[in-house]
Order: sequence, then C-alpha cells, then structure tokens
Amino acid sequence: MALVLNEEQQSLRDIAKEFLQKNAPISHFREIRDTKDPLGYDKVLWKKMAELGWAGILVSEEYGGFNFGMMGMGGILEETGKTLTPSPLFATGLLGVSLIELAGDEKQKKQLLPKIVEGNLTTAFALEEGSRHAPCNIATKAKKEGNSFVLNGEKTFVLDGHSAEKIIVAARTNGGNDQKLGITLFCIDSGTPGMEITRLSMLDSRNVAEIKLKNVNISSDCLLGELDNGFSIIEEVLDRAQIGMSAEMLGNATQAFEITLNYLKERKQFGSLIGSFQALKHRAAIMYSELELTKSSVVGALNAVDEKSNDRTRFASLAKFKAGETLHLVSNESVQMHGGVGVTDEYDIGFFMKRSRVAQQIFGSADYHIDRYATLSEY
Ligand SMILES: Cc1cc2nc3c(=O)[nH]c(=O)nc-3n(C[C@H](O)[C@H](O)[C@H](O)COP(=O)(O)OP(=O)(O)OC[C@H]3O[C@@H](n4cnc5c(N)ncnc54)[C@H](O)[C@@H]3O)c2cc1C
Repeated sequence: MALVLNEEQQSLRDIAKEFLQKNAPISHFREIRDTKDPLGYDKVLWKKMAELGWAGILVSEEYGGFNFGMMGMGGILEETGKTLTPSPLFATGLLGVSLIELAGDEKQKKQLLPKIVEGNLTTAFALEEGSRHAPCNIATKAKKEGNSFVLNGEKTFVLDGHSAEKIIVAARTNGGNDQKLGITLFCIDSGTPGMEITRLSMLDSRNVAEIKLKNVNISSDCLLGELDNGFSIIEEVLDRAQIGMSAEMLGNATQAFEITLNYLKERKQFGSLIGSFQALKHRAAIMYSELELTKSSVVGALNAVDEKSNDRTRFASLAKFKAGETLHLVSNESVQMHGGVGVTDEYDIGFFMKRSRVAQQIFGSADYHIDRYATLSEY
C-alpha cells in the first residue's frame, strides 16, 4: 500500500492549503462564531470551494464530479482541520455524496449530485438517536401507508442539520432496536411539514441539530436505496466518515502542534526561551512521534477505501482511534505549554482543545473504535 500521495493528490492538497490559509484562516472561524452567523458557514466561500471542485471530489464523472477518491478528500479535510474552517464539506461533500452515490437510483443521482457539485445543494445525515455513537440503535419509525411513508421519531447530533436543504434520515421499517435488518434511508426536504429542526451550538462553536419527526408524510420517491436494507450502505458511509473525520483531526493536531512549537521558540522565562528546556522538548518529541503514527494510520485508511480493501472497516477504526488519542494529547499539551494564556480566548490554541472534544465524539470515540478494532481482529 502506497503511503505517499501521487502528483494529482499532492497538487490538490497544495491548492487547498494555499486557498484556505488565504481565504479562511482561523480568524474566519472566529468571525463566524462571534457574529453568530445563521448558517454557521460562509456561503460565498462554500461556492468558491465548489468551484475548486471540492463538493464533487467523491462524485462520479457521469454526474459532473471528479471521482478523486478519499485520498483527495482526506487531503482537503486535513487542511480544513488546520484552519478550523466551517463549511458543508464533511456533511454534504462526504456524507451526503456517499449516501446518494452508494444508495441512490439513477434518477436521484442525476437530480441531486450535479447540484451538490455546483455548491447549490447541501445535505445532512440524521442517524444518531442517543448521546453516544450507536449506528443501529434506531427507534425512529417509517410506516408505509399506500404510496407514502409516515415518519415519527427523534434524531440528535445531526451535523449541519439546521442549514441543510435535504435531510437523509435513517428510519426503522422493520425489526427491533439494535437490529441491522429493517433500517431504511429516506432523502427528505428539510421544510417538510412535521419536521422540527432545532439548532444547537456545540462546545467547538460548530452546529448540530436535533430533529423531531412528527407524522412526517413523504412520498415513496424519497426512499434512498432498498427498503429494510439500508444498513450495509450506512456501514460503508460511516467508514468513510470516520476516516474523513480522522483526516480533519490530524489537521487539527498538526496545527496545534505547529502553533505550540512556535510559542516555545518565542516565549522567554528566567531569561531563556522555554523551548530550550528539556522538560518541554521531551513532551514536544512525544507529540511529534504520535503525529507521525497518526499520519500513517489516516493515509492507510484513506487508501483502504480507494483500493476497496476488505480491511476497510478495521482501518477506519484504527484511524479514528489514533486520531482521537493524538488530538486529545496534543490539544491538552498545547494549552498547558502555553501556560496561563492558553486558556484565554485571545489565543487560538484553546479552539483546538474544544474541537478535539467534539470531533472525538463524531461517529465514535477512541474507546468505541479500539473496541471495534479488537472485535474485528477477533481478540
Ligand atoms: C486567565 C488566567 C487566569 C489565571 N488564574 C490563576 C489562578 O487562579 N491562580 C493562580 O495561581 N494563577 C493563575 N494564573 C496564572 C498562572 O498560574 C500562570 O500563568 C502559570 O503559573 C503559568 O505561567 P505562565 O502563564 O507565565 O506560563 P510560562 O511561564 O510562559 O510557561 C509556559 C510553559 O512552559 C513551562 N515552563 C516554563 N518554564 C519552564 C522550565 N524552566 N522548565 C520546564 N517547563 C517550563 C510551563 O510549565 C508551561 O507549560 C492565571 C493566568 C491567566 C492567564
């Protein structure tokens, strides 16, 4: 397995780095947060990202996309992690596109994917129902009535749920809670009567939504994929999501480390640069080693998706576990090494600790993934 980027992937990443540092540095995130922006991201910026092709990275060429694979997507997500850029890239470009590409029929793909590629349609994935990741713990019911379905239930932690135009809902059409069989996907307009969408601001100032579905009546055209058999698609999309989130977390950790190294080289105490003391050098060396291990885990996992490896799920857990542990360590150490100023809002470093706590919970914490890795490895 190649652990280096090819020329095209490297160039995509270089462009992303230059674009984000110029157009959406951490001060952009601060502005979105401080102005309590109603969308939670900048629409003009998202349009520019779409023009660069980012919304269509995972979309097949026949639907106007670029079919650049997860290695391409991972490089961009890593760069957005460095700048903490809020955008629909993860919820729409990765989750929405993957769900539609893998589950949608020809008509749905033709109708939805080109709009996403142009930056004119955003999506959210309403999966979770509890406070911890539990993908088949689905109690939301979809009952068939003639040529329509009626949905009732509650979804939580829906990333970008308040701003997305289409909500892809996982609901139970058969079986009991915790059963994989009997889960079905539906692609629903966010304005459909009976959907109550509440925006919540997270610790990291990003958005999630709680969605209540009360007798939501939808046509059977909204069915995305096969009735009762949505779980295998969800599993594949979650693997991609966990790997993509790990790439973003790697970017978070890399940038926190970079900012901290610079601080160690400029802050003087007792007449010396604090970075000249071994006590801090050793801690920086541990972070560096952990970052290198995380890079390998993430690149390995991105590759596993593109190469259609049978081991994709294990790679996804390895990457999310390693990224979770490393970002936790690096964000803690970074704030601590900044001394008192690390906890103030004037310094950017605290944002990485806040992002760390939220990102770790998205689609499974490090504990969840080490357990899944062990199970898959037959421990
Ligand atoms: C908002 C705020 C609230 C605060 N509240 C309190 C409070 O309630 N009570 C209180 O007592 N203090 C408080 N402080 C002060 C705080 O205790 C000091 O900031 C703290 O002692 C760290 O000093 P410093 O921030 O100057 O960090 P620095 O001295 O700049 O140190 C930065 C990093 O280098 C490390 N370091 C420094 N010198 C060495 C060395 N020779 N060898 C190895 N490592 C080294 C430090 O451990 C730290 O990790 C507060 C500060 C702020 C900004």
